Amino acid sequence: MLTGCHIAFIGGDARQIEVIKKCSELDATISLIGFNQLESQFPGATKVDPAPEIFEDVDALILPIVGAHADGIVESVFSDQTIILKEDWIKTLPEHCVIYTGMATPYLEQLTSKYNIKLVRLLDRDDVAIYNSIPTVEGALMMAIQNTDITLHGSKCVVLGLGRVGMSLARALHALGAKVLVGARKPEHLARIYEMGLTPFHIQDIKQYIHHCDILFNTIPAKVVPAEVIVRLPSHTLIIDLASKPGGVDFRFAEKRGIKALLAPSLPGIVAPKTAGRILANVITQLMIEERQSRGEE
Ligand code: NAP
Repeated sequence: MLTGCHIAFIGGDARQIEVIKKCSELDATISLIGFNQLESQFPGATKVDPAPEIFEDVDALILPIVGAHADGIVESVFSDQTIILKEDWIKTLPEHCVIYTGMATPYLEQLTSKYNIKLVRLLDRDDVAIYNSIPTVEGALMMAIQNTDITLHGSKCVVLGLGRVGMSLARALHALGAKVLVGARKPEHLARIYEMGLTPFHIQDIKQYIHHCDILFNTIPAKVVPAEVIVRLPSHTLIIDLASKPGGVDFRFAEKRGIKALLAPSLPGIVAPKTAGRILANVITQLMIEERQSRGEE
């Protein structure tokens, strides 16, 4: 339980509602900043104006997945006002307060290190990335189905990268009956791809493995699909780039060649905000409970 725990939320999207709901169910006291247009109500949660005093007894501060931008702006789809994470607020936080964010900009890093406040970057965690790969893969499959006139079953799919997303995606495509080739660079990844019953290739040899590709999915956040690769793809190939911006594809050249290439960021929040929110809610509340236990509070 989170009885007696004061949690402040600053901004967010539909995913944050699931986190607020779970904290409310666990009996936390909740202050909501940047939610003036939110209609739902949760026991224990109050919309507040962000005066510095609010932060004096906050045990946990929860920011949206994108954290605070370089100028301190925190996005909130539930507010018509601009919310800026102020230095005064961070300065006022008690020493034991933990800030949870999806990712951290230098602005947030600098502020938290200046005042020695613990910052948890949720997207850096393996468990969050693996859970998140589930809605990401469903979104990628949805895009593939919407943008092709063939079934995934029997199609020739190339997946680049065998990380958290690449592995889930390759497995799902295989289960749907696609012929799956996976490009990676580590020997253990190539061995795992073979063990999964898929066709492995070293990413350096990509040009030799894409001649008959129907759909190319990239999960590698590096320029692994340059013009020299695109030029060897069949003209009907669909490219879906899942890697974080700017992706790993030469989009300019793909367009020039008439190959459809889509950059598909933030799929969990788009295709399954509720599930994506529950993933965050479960991990954040578990971490908060552990944090309290480590302080001997429960
Ligand atoms: P990950 O587990 O770190 O996997 C990335 C893979 O890329 C690793 O297997 C890594 O291989 C490989 N890689 C990195 N740099 C490489 C290079 N220069 N050459 C060859 N291989 C390279 O990350 P993830 O969780 O799967 O996420 C993959 C990407 O998708 C990230 O950019 C992430 O931000 C993004 N993402 C997007 C969505 C969305 O909705 N579109 C959702 C979740 C994640 P090594 O182990 O050999 O380094």
